[in-house]
Amino acid sequence: MRVLVTGGAGFLGSHLCRALLGRGHQVLAMDNLLTGRMETLHDLLEHKGFSFRKWDVSLPYEAEVDVIFNMASAASPPKYQIDPVHTLRTNVLGADHALRVAQTCGAVMIQASTSEIYGDPDCHPQPESYVGQIDPLSPRACYNEGKRAAETLCFDYHRRHGVRVKIMRLFNTYGPAMDIEDGRVVTNFLAAALRDAPLQLHGDGSQTRSFCYVSDTIAGMLALMDSDDTQTGPYNIGNPGEITVRALAEQIKALTGSDSPVVSGPAATDDPRRRCPDITRAKAELNWAPSVPLADGLRHTLDDIRARLAARAAQGTAG
Ligand code: NAD
Ligand code: UDP
Repeated sequence: MRVLVTGGAGFLGSHLCRALLGRGHQVLAMDNLLTGRMETLHDLLEHKGFSFRKWDVSLPYEAEVDVIFNMASAASPPKYQIDPVHTLRTNVLGADHALRVAQTCGAVMIQASTSEIYGDPDCHPQPESYVGQIDPLSPRACYNEGKRAAETLCFDYHRRHGVRVKIMRLFNTYGPAMDIEDGRVVTNFLAAALRDAPLQLHGDGSQTRSFCYVSDTIAGMLALMDSDDTQTGPYNIGNPGEITVRALAEQIKALTGSDSPVVSGPAATDDPRRRCPDITRAKAELNWAPSVPLADGLRHTLDDIRARLAARAAQGTAG
């Protein structure tokens, strides 16, 4: 099949492109390189099944494909808040443009939604039936309301125009190839620990997240692609192993053997207090469940970050 991956130069997009090529599909990655880097695709550029188009999905585009994974959007809170209007446009117009392409060529449009659409949940863990608790005026709303509108667009195109759609609500995913300066918690803590710098908690660190290793998330995406057209979702794709941010910091400190202090700082605005997926539906309907323990995933991610920091240091020395 011919598969378009918007946001293909990002963390998840690049892993997805690699997995799709591994299955023998042709892949077109489209990205404006806002938070993505060509470096994540370095081993794919010479692959005969792979092509790259630099494009901003908030502008209309055409493509002849069978499947669209609509992944384009900054995902790290500090990054998506830099230009909130562009984030909202990327999520709303980007979904509209992908759906128009799907409508024109009969492709299936698989939308990367997020656990953020549940906001600061008063239901725990969160099943897909939970409608969420969100302040539309919050600095996070450019992202979570944009993703909610994108889900609405998917179902309106599906019901009104018969467009084939699938929605995956991804929970916090981590792993090799994340941008070290991305600003998300796993990379921040690993990089700080390697430098013996403080691991900075936002607030007291009692808020929770549930971290899914990237290979598990990608397996969930592929299971959704393989499912039949009636399986529109939404599906929660995440690891139900819940941990406080403070406990994550302590685990990373122990893993790295670092002397870094774990310090409290100001809380982030509207930071969800708890987050944990109920994955009953994905288990039953996609026959998918995550399998990589946090300790193993963190070790792989640490090895990758350590190698990249060492390569940078060597380049700096050489330069
Ligand atoms: P990322 O920032 O590494 O990748 C996003 C990619 O989208 C980048 O390559 C960026 O350059 C590109 N992009 C941003 N705006 C664009 C635009 N207007 N036009 C074209 N390209 C654009 O983030 P990620 O973690 O790989 O996330 C990928 C997708 O998965 C996002 O849609 C995100 O909302 C979703 N998601 C990720 C997670 C996670 O934990 N990683 C969780 C929930 C949802
Ligand atoms: N966080 C933190 N220190 C950091 C980065 C993040 O304490 O250096 C917290 C953040 O406030 C949130 C959690 O860790 O409560 C996860 O943050 P991340 O940005 O990775 O993802 P998201 O908030 O989108 O779940």
